[in-house]
Amino acid sequence: MSFDGKVALVTGASRGIGRAIAVEFARLGADVALVARNAAALDETAAAVKAARNGARTHAIVADVTDAAANDEAVAATIAQLGRIDFAVANAGQAADALLVRMKPADVDAALTINLKSAFYLCSAVAKPMMRQRSGAIVLVSSIVGLTGNAGQAGYAAAKAGLLGLAKSVAKELGSRNVRVNAVAPGFIETAMTEALSEQARAHFLATVPLGRAGTPEDVSGVVTFLCSDAARYVTGQTIVVDGGVLM
Ligand code: NAP
Repeated sequence: MSFDGKVALVTGASRGIGRAIAVEFARLGADVALVARNAAALDETAAAVKAARNGARTHAIVADVTDAAANDEAVAATIAQLGRIDFAVANAGQAADALLVRMKPADVDAALTINLKSAFYLCSAVAKPMMRQRSGAIVLVSSIVGLTGNAGQAGYAAAKAGLLGLAKSVAKELGSRNVRVNAVAPGFIETAMTEALSEQARAHFLATVPLGRAGTPEDVSGVVTFLCSDAARYVTGQTIVVDGGVLM
């Protein structure tokens, strides 16, 4: 796999899975636009990207992806600073744990906005430049709970399930222009998002993992870059589960 001369945009690139995706793109030869709200953490990602490949170009974009215009501006800035856009990864997301009966309408809105609408906005923003250049790959970072549901995560799971319908629909709309859209559905991955879990909850979940360990951000980033690569050129509208075998 070589991404020489290619440019990727990754949302939620300030830590965790998004940082690992950005680093992996760079290691494989791409230049990378990094999007998140925390400027200092984006600088740390930019340093990790440069450590992965000497000469890798980065462009940090401090933005809130729940704002549609911010996604348009991030794509425009990527093209202006790095010259083009070949890959877009909608990775930014946030846990939204609450029992259904405790969720207020504002909680539902918040869960759907960060975990679903932000990806919608990114797809809209990259569609035109990718269609124009007759190539591109988009990856949406969903979750296994989008496939299984989860008690106490109705808002988050509904949003993550929505991403799968979004990926398939956009894959059908853009396929004739050689733009592919896929999703990944990670299981339990060691990041800031999961470190708040109790030891008991962690042990309970890990007991269900055939591969016998939690996932790492790098376990996910390799699948994301594969989906963007030429090796996956005939793959679109698919969801790849990255969970150590929990769902099978
Ligand atoms: P994380 O460490 O909490 O990282 C979340 C990232 O999203 C951060 O870079 C954060 O950056 C960014 N973000 C959140 N809200 C944002 C906003 N409004 N605008 C811009 N950026 C925003 O979580 P993670 O585990 O790496 O999760 C990455 C993705 O994987 C998420 O979509 C998550 O749902 C999904 N996922 C994770 C797991 C897991 O077990 N960890 C499992 C399945 C799916 P700032 O705070 O700097 O803005």
